[in-house]
Amino acid sequence: IFSGNVVEMCPVGALTAKSFRFMGRPWELKRTPSVCGNCAVGCNVLVDVRVDKVQRQYSRTNDDIDDGWLCDRGRWDLAAFNSPERLRTPLVRRGGQLQPTTWDDALTLVGQRLAEIARHSGPQAVGGIGSTHTTNEEAYLFQKLLRTGIGTNNVDHWHGSFPDQRDGDLPWVWTGSIAGLDRASHIVLLGADPYERQPIVDLRIRKAIRAGAQLIVVTSEPLRLDRLATSVIRYQPGQTGIVARALRALIASEPHPLPPLLRGEGGPEAFSALPPDAGGPEGDAAALAGQAGVELEALRALVRTLVGARAATLLYDERATREPSGANLAADALAVALLTGNFGQPGAGAGPLLGAVNSLGARDMGLLPDLLPGYVGVGDEAGRGRLAREWGGAEPPAMPGLGYAAMLAGGVKALYVMGADPAHHVDPAALEHFDFLVVQDLFLTETAQRADVVLPAVAYAEKDGSFTNTERCVQAVRRAMIPLPGARADWEILGGVARALGLRWSYRGPSDVLAEIGRVVPIYAGLTRRALGARGLRWPIMLAQDEDGAIRLAGSDHLTWDMLQQGVSNSPPLATGDAAPAGSPPLAGEGQGERS
Ligand code: SF4
Repeated sequence: IFSGNVVEMCPVGALTAKSFRFMGRPWELKRTPSVCGNCAVGCNVLVDVRVDKVQRQYSRTNDDIDDGWLCDRGRWDLAAFNSPERLRTPLVRRGGQLQPTTWDDALTLVGQRLAEIARHSGPQAVGGIGSTHTTNEEAYLFQKLLRTGIGTNNVDHWHGSFPDQRDGDLPWVWTGSIAGLDRASHIVLLGADPYERQPIVDLRIRKAIRAGAQLIVVTSEPLRLDRLATSVIRYQPGQTGIVARALRALIASEPHPLPPLLRGEGGPEAFSALPPDAGGPEGDAAALAGQAGVELEALRALVRTLVGARAATLLYDERATREPSGANLAADALAVALLTGNFGQPGAGAGPLLGAVNSLGARDMGLLPDLLPGYVGVGDEAGRGRLAREWGGAEPPAMPGLGYAAMLAGGVKALYVMGADPAHHVDPAALEHFDFLVVQDLFLTETAQRADVVLPAVAYAEKDGSFTNTERCVQAVRRAMIPLPGARADWEILGGVARALGLRWSYRGPSDVLAEIGRVVPIYAGLTRRALGARGLRWPIMLAQDEDGAIRLAGSDHLTWDMLQQGVSNSPPLATGDAAPAGSPPLAGEGQGERS
């Protein structure tokens, strides 16, 4: 799955790729620096376009993420850009059939029908399902549209199962970083297979092993990494959460020295900041191990290894949190890292390996029924007030809205779906019960086939914006080609729907939206497109001073104990603006492609 790197590295061009052979000369290509949109690693790429067709993606080395490698999926899976199946015109249902229409008619109809249903049945009769594939700016605008244009918190997306977050709690994220794996003494893969799901992380783990790290694989199925592991522990499929619970129970039941973080002053408060225990099978590690079909002694040895580790990273796949046993997996994994002292230093930490390119960005931007952008609870009055000041006085509702499953189960009368295909998760026939269904997508998906209005969107190579990868790194996405005629970027479509709903948005482009995000989302504080530079920044964004005294924005390679205790959403936003100091030098051509 890494064979394409051979073609890219061939110094004389003797090794070529079938898909580009005889398609054009390299010097005819227009190269645009951007980010791969195929998984949550967010490898840096050069998008090569010839005659408005994406020909290939080449690597753009970022040692903090990809080390200059791409997997073949990211390099070659470009069908979505060039597919003849792409939607090129808005569609409305007339006489039971989807018929082409104009953008004006489609947007007016969407605005009218959403407003009508909200007026007659109340704002709670409308909901929205957002995407893990659209940019941060588009996810932010989507929830803003629902919260201010309709007045509902019925907004969600397809995501893993994470415990409820109290106001200010640390979000359930990877507390370390990809580059930090180089500094790890131990790496534990719990229910994760990066080779299949996040391939470049697999390469980074191999690199860490060469540097001396020990790998411990804890999965229900064999992995290709097994042969490089110092220890392999197997359990029954679907029991990942029980294994994590058993590890936590073992730590609690055996006398281990408390890690320095939890000793000394603030120790009791430190314990109270530990992830909540969301219930489930209690206490007895032996019983839990029996339930999971795993050897207790193997888990006990793992706990001892973690307690003695210099810096261990524990990674689980977000997908495992959706298993029936996975509801508390995220909390237990973080607790295991904290209680064994593997937190707050380079190479240590815990967290999920996410699946889609902007899985984390969708959460950060508040595509959640109970959390506003930046993990601020909808019940947080100060947080709502901060948004209202930026949103022209429109305050989001204080009551949590309906989640993904509840909306699809008929909890709303009108549903607006952006960049998602929930027909994969529910009986597609159930989608026909909505009074009004809008779908915004690149293709006539199963969900779109049942819609009343379909709005054609564009792919990431056709627009500007930003994605946030699985390790909290916010990176700029750049438009590499002219958008498909007839289709529009999601942020533009949302602007059109906002106008039809009577909202006065005045964004000139995604840069304006990101600047607003930098003003209202504490973990993205101060962020602007320019500040993202060529390499991006890991949130929470902070101010740092250079040796020469200059102030600049800096990312956080790993979350610290202070951040965990304070809760990242409680930090005040920085003063910001276009004059915000740059995180790293912008790329040549930065700002091109912005629409006016
Ligand atoms: Fe793209 Fe993911 Fe492969 Fe990187 S690992 S090239 S982001 S698909």
